[in-house]
Amino acid sequence: MRILVTGGAGFLGSHMCDRLIAEEHHVIVLDNLITGSSDNLAHLRDHKNFSFIQHNISHPIYFGDKIDVVLHMASPASPNPDSPYGYPRLPIQTLKAGAFGTHNALGIARAHKARFLLTSTSEVYGDPLVHPQREDYVGNVDPIGPRSMYDEAKRFAEAMVMAYHRSHGVDTRIVRIFNTYGPRMRLDDGRVVPNFICQALSGQPLTIHGEGKQTRSFCYIDDLIEGIYRLLFSELPEIHLPVNIGNPTETNMLELASIINRLTGNTAGIERQPSGRVLTDPERRRPDITRAREWLGWEPRISLDDGLRSTIEDFKHRL
Ligand code: UDP
Repeated sequence: MRILVTGGAGFLGSHMCDRLIAEEHHVIVLDNLITGSSDNLAHLRDHKNFSFIQHNISHPIYFGDKIDVVLHMASPASPNPDSPYGYPRLPIQTLKAGAFGTHNALGIARAHKARFLLTSTSEVYGDPLVHPQREDYVGNVDPIGPRSMYDEAKRFAEAMVMAYHRSHGVDTRIVRIFNTYGPRMRLDDGRVVPNFICQALSGQPLTIHGEGKQTRSFCYIDDLIEGIYRLLFSELPEIHLPVNIGNPTETNMLELASIINRLTGNTAGIERQPSGRVLTDPERRRPDITRAREWLGWEPRISLDDGLRSTIEDFKHRL
């Protein structure tokens, strides 16, 4: 199949491209490289089934040759206001990628009668009042809060996907991705796993925001890609409804820090940082993956220790 991947130069996008190429699909990546990096695709550049177009999907683009599948993965995704790649520093680009970008990507799918998949996010649940989060929980999002440019962009994107499905009959999928980590994350991405690994590898204390009791559930990239791949090619009648893909094991930031310090042999410990972010950080986040289990036969297989080991190895080579 000829598969268009917006945001294909990003962390998730580039791993998705690897999988699609391995399955012998033709891949066309669209990326404006504001948060993605061509380094992530350097190994695919000369592959016969691969091509790259530097373009911002928030602006229309037309393809003559048939496209069979559109994967709309383009968006800034780090919540860290201190990172140049964080969406708080790119608020308008983030809103446009979710709104105009999704509209344009759906337009391509409609014109080509292609299947469409949106990578959405657990952030559509906001600071959730229900645990774990099932897909039918409608969320607790502040429309003008510090994460609103991302959360509302993705909520709008989901609404747009459902509108194209219901009004134009486009064959759509929505995956809600929970915290994911792995090789190729930007060293200065600002999210907790890359931050902690960079600090640990340079012998510094790991910066814990607040008490460190806030939890996340961390999914290794290979598990995530397997889930998205199964969702994309599932033919169940209800498959246009959103599906959570993430790891249901909850870990708090103190536990995460101690695992990373152990795996890297870092003896500098931790350092508590009174962070403004703590006030706006979701306290807990954990997916209910019943749908993914029942519809896709999917669940994560890679332990946090094993996933972090591979991620640390990758970071060692790039630091
Ligand atoms: N965090 C931390 N130290 C850091 C970076 C992040 O304690 O150096 C915390 C952050 O406050 C949040 C959690 O780790 O509670 C996960 O943050 P991340 O930026 O990875 O993404 P989020 O899950 O909040 O979208």
